[in-house]
Amino acid sequence: MKGFEYLQDQLDDMKNEGTFRTLIPLESKQGSKVQIKGKEVIQLSSNNYLGLTSHPKMVEAAEKANQEYGVGTGSVRTIAGTLQMHEDFEKKLAKFKHTEAALVFQSGFTTNQGILSSILTEQDVVISDELNHASIIDGIRLTKAARKIYKHVDMESLEQALKESSDYRTKLIVTDGVFSMDGNIAPLPEIVELAEKYGALVMVDDAHASGVLGENGRGTVNHFGLDGRVHIQVGTLSKAIGVLGGYVASTQTLREYLIHKGRPFLFSTSHPPAVTAANDAAIDVLLEEPELIDKLWGNTKFFKDGLKKLGFNTGISETPVTPVMIGDDALTHKFSDELFEEGIFAQGIVFPTVQRGKGRIRTIVTAEHSKEELQDALNAFEKVGKKLNII
Ligand SMILES: *Cc1c(COP(=O)(O)O)cnc(C)c1O
Repeated sequence: MKGFEYLQDQLDDMKNEGTFRTLIPLESKQGSKVQIKGKEVIQLSSNNYLGLTSHPKMVEAAEKANQEYGVGTGSVRTIAGTLQMHEDFEKKLAKFKHTEAALVFQSGFTTNQGILSSILTEQDVVISDELNHASIIDGIRLTKAARKIYKHVDMESLEQALKESSDYRTKLIVTDGVFSMDGNIAPLPEIVELAEKYGALVMVDDAHASGVLGENGRGTVNHFGLDGRVHIQVGTLSKAIGVLGGYVASTQTLREYLIHKGRPFLFSTSHPPAVTAANDAAIDVLLEEPELIDKLWGNTKFFKDGLKKLGFNTGISETPVTPVMIGDDALTHKFSDELFEEGIFAQGIVFPTVQRGKGRIRTIVTAEHSKEELQDALNAFEKVGKKLNII
C-alpha cells in the first residue's frame, strides 16, 4: 500500500544505524528461565522483581474472578464499569500506602499522564528531573503549565528552579523514585526539604520501587520515612506486582478530582475483574511473604557484587536495576547477542533510550532466580566480557 514511504525511510535509517529492533516473543510464561527462539535461557530483562506474574494465589484469584464476574467490565469507571472490587482494592491500596485514598488507572503510563495533564494550568509550574520516565515527559507535554527541567538528582539545580518559580500558584516537583536505566534512588529527603522550604508539592513515580523498596514494598516514600510529606505517590501494578495497572496514592481531594478530570480514567474502560482480583491478591502476598523482598535484595547483592568482582562497571545503581556499562551502541548489541548464545537473555539499551555512547546491558534479577542461575549468568558475563575486551 502506498503512502508510508516517509515512515519506511526512517525505518531504513534505523537499520543503517543499527537501532532498528524486532520484538522478541517468549515461548513460555515469564520467569527466571524462559524459552526464546526454541532455547531455554536465564531471564535478566524482566521487571518481574518478585516473580509474582505466576504466583499461585494471584492466579487463583484471577481464575475465580473470571468465573464469577466474566472477562471484561463493559464500561469506563465513571459510567457503568466500576465494580465493587475496584473500590475495595483502592481502599486496600490506600491503607497499604498509608495515604487517605488511592485511585487505579489502566497503567502506570496513563496514571502519570492523567495526573500531570489535569492538575496544572498556565498559572502553575512543573519542575522535573531531566531523566524522568517518558510517561512523565508526555504528561508534562499535555499541560499548559510552565516547565523547568533540573539536572539529574542535582539539588542545586532543583533549588535554582524553585527560586525562579516564586510567581506561580502551584509548584510541582516530579521525580522517578528509582531511575529505570541506572537503578539509582532519587534523593527524596533533600527534595522534600526543598519543597517544604519553597512551598512546592512533590510527586514521586515509584514504578521501580513498588514492591521493591520500603516496608513490604511500600516504595521510596516509606523507605525514607517520609510518609505524609509527599503529596502524590504514583505506583505501578505492572512491574513487581506482576499484573497490570497504575495508581495514585494521595488525598481524597486528589482522588475525587482525578475521577472528574483524569482523562485516561474517564475515557478508557476499567480493568477486567481478573486483573483487579490478581492485583488485590498481590497486596496480600506483599504483606504475608516479605521473604520474597529479602530474597530479591539478597540476589541483587550477590549478582551486583559478582559483576563488580569481575571488573564490570555497574554505574550508580543502588537497586535491583543493575546496568552493565558497555558504551558503544553496536558493541552493546553484540554483547547481548553473545550472552544469548551463552543462555542468558539480557537486553542492550542504547540511544535514544539512554545517551549516545552510554550503551549498557540492563539487568534485573528477581526473587525467583536461584543462586545457580545467577552464577551461570555471571560465568556467561565473564566469558563474553573477556571475549569482547570489556574486562
Ligand atoms: C514502567 C514505568 C512506568 C509505566 O508503568 P506501566 O504500568 O508499565 O505503564 C511509569 N513510570 C516509570 C518510572 C516506569 O519505569
